[in-house]
Amino acid sequence: MPPLKNKIRLRFAPSPTGFLHIGSLRSALFGYLLAKNWGGEFILRVEDTDQKREVAGATDSLIRILKIMGLEFDEGPHLGGQYGPYIQSERLDIYKRYSDRLLEEGRAYRCFCSAERLTKMREAQEAEKKAPRYDRLCRNLKEEEIEAKIKAGEQFVIRQKMPLSGEVTVRDELRGDIRFPAADLDDHVLIKSNGIPTYQFANVIDDHLMEISHVTRAVEWLPSYPKNFLLYQDFGWTPPKFIHMPLILNKEGGGKLSKRRGDVFVEDYLDKGYLPEALINFCALLGWHPKSDQEIWSLKELTSGFSLEGMGASPAVFDVDKLDYYNGYYIRQKNNKELASLCAPYLSEAGLKAASPEQLEKFVSLAQDRLKKLSDIAELTNFLFTPPTYEPELLRWKTLSLEEALANLKNIRDELEKINSEDWATEYLEKTILAWIKNHDYKNGDYLWPLRVSLTGLKNSPGPFEVAGALGREESLKRLNNAYKLRI
Ligand code: GLU
Repeated sequence: MPPLKNKIRLRFAPSPTGFLHIGSLRSALFGYLLAKNWGGEFILRVEDTDQKREVAGATDSLIRILKIMGLEFDEGPHLGGQYGPYIQSERLDIYKRYSDRLLEEGRAYRCFCSAERLTKMREAQEAEKKAPRYDRLCRNLKEEEIEAKIKAGEQFVIRQKMPLSGEVTVRDELRGDIRFPAADLDDHVLIKSNGIPTYQFANVIDDHLMEISHVTRAVEWLPSYPKNFLLYQDFGWTPPKFIHMPLILNKEGGGKLSKRRGDVFVEDYLDKGYLPEALINFCALLGWHPKSDQEIWSLKELTSGFSLEGMGASPAVFDVDKLDYYNGYYIRQKNNKELASLCAPYLSEAGLKAASPEQLEKFVSLAQDRLKKLSDIAELTNFLFTPPTYEPELLRWKTLSLEEALANLKNIRDELEKINSEDWATEYLEKTILAWIKNHDYKNGDYLWPLRVSLTGLKNSPGPFEVAGALGREESLKRLNNAYKLRI
């Protein structure tokens, strides 16, 4: 069936060069959201023309991560579709057809300059502080010269012929019309000497042939946009509408988002225990401003609430505290069972093993409110898994002497011992012990502080009843005994 005109089709076009950058996730997300909002299609195209930078397995890993994120495609290398192949290295004959057409029409030319000549030229330009640019030596070669060189087996690249004067006006959906002086444009390479196209060429051909209606891509591509635009013109094609995504800046220092491992790759954030929902929510607000001040957005809500009008061109700031905030929010939405299974890998990595699934759920739920990321779980729950060691002095509350603290502890232990296993749960413990304290006119701190420390060994921790509830009767009493045995 021939594709309908004016269809909405957006694509994510990653290069399989390794991990998925947060900025790329955002480009993919915005493309996906626009496609879904407008009732269109979302396509995955793998741009693997830079084979030197290609990393084995990167495509599979990209597909896996995007699936985890909830971004589903309508077409792609893993799904097929009527516009395939969706991997550029499988489309070389297509690019050849179109570069031949440009050569025939005199809109591109073969360049035979050697690598040494180009290097020298670039060094000279750098020395003169000029922008590096091909000097167009081969632009005016005569037909016979070209034929002779080809016959002699000389290698060549194909370059785009840029206008020598005038201006090129391009339109960006976020920035309006942008004018570029044509003289600043380099006759850049479209096809390399091995016959493989550059990004700049393959991308234009594919966006056209795949009938892409809108492009969401990084603002880094804006300077080469006029060259792409001229190619569309050369072929007589209407370009898609371009949306260059605003820069993402580091919070500290305000520079471009750093490339350091651990800071920019989605895989690293997932490994650290950031939830996909949090990363999606966070990325959606990097350059999109909802009409209301709603901060929490699920992917589902975004697929109807997101709009191009809410996007801005000014840089977005990558604020990890914000990401932690979203992550904490989504962690708190999990029920005990979900949280336990999310935390389990981090605990076993730390060598912490719960006695039963029920115990695991109790332990992790105790940390739920304080978890910023799942990988914090081991640190936050370690004291539950391992009997605490601490300085006896820590048992003292305000002016209480150690002897008094220990005496109070023995007292409260005797009281706790009266509670049987069936009743041993946070609420019941709290109700009973607080009533007992009140009846005796004791001060809460004089009893609850030593109790809490004996159970946790920590200066700061969840409250004593929550901890005792999670530990269970036997373990709690054991810890209490250990504490007052310290001095006996
Ligand atoms: N392959 C390019 C990249 O990974 C795609 C840019 C675009 O979306 O056009 O940056």
